[in-house]
Amino acid sequence: MDKLTLPPAAARAPHPAHCPPWCVDCRHYDTEPHRALLHRGPAETVPMYDEGCALVETSVRTAFWDKAPGWIGTDPADLERPYVEVTVPTDFPLQLSLSPDQARAFAAALLRAADTTDRASTTTTPH
Ligand SMILES: [Zn+2]
Repeated sequence: MDKLTLPPAAARAPHPAHCPPWCVDCRHYDTEPHRALLHRGPAETVPMYDEGCALVETSVRTAFWDKAPGWIGTDPADLERPYVEVTVPTDFPLQLSLSPDQARAFAAALLRAADTTDRASTTTTPH
């Protein structure tokens, strides 16, 4: 681990020694035989409209399932290391898990669509 990237110990919230430095929310799943810890980083929220036009606070954060050895290999390989978690809290909550490459591709697609939408807004008039 690169100690240069860690904040001073006094600035970090007390955490179990097994937590990655970015973890602020641990969940322990001790159900045998699949013991696992879910480490989650701080969430950034983005308000979005759901299909009923209600604002929902979508959250984006880093997450990582620290699994017991017998459970490793049960998910796609790129989700068995830290990944990006997107949670949309609608009536039927949606949770997405993206590898860093998938998250970057999604962000790039959003930027392209936003740019196209901005251009369309200046050239399209309502009927
Ligand atoms: Zn943790």
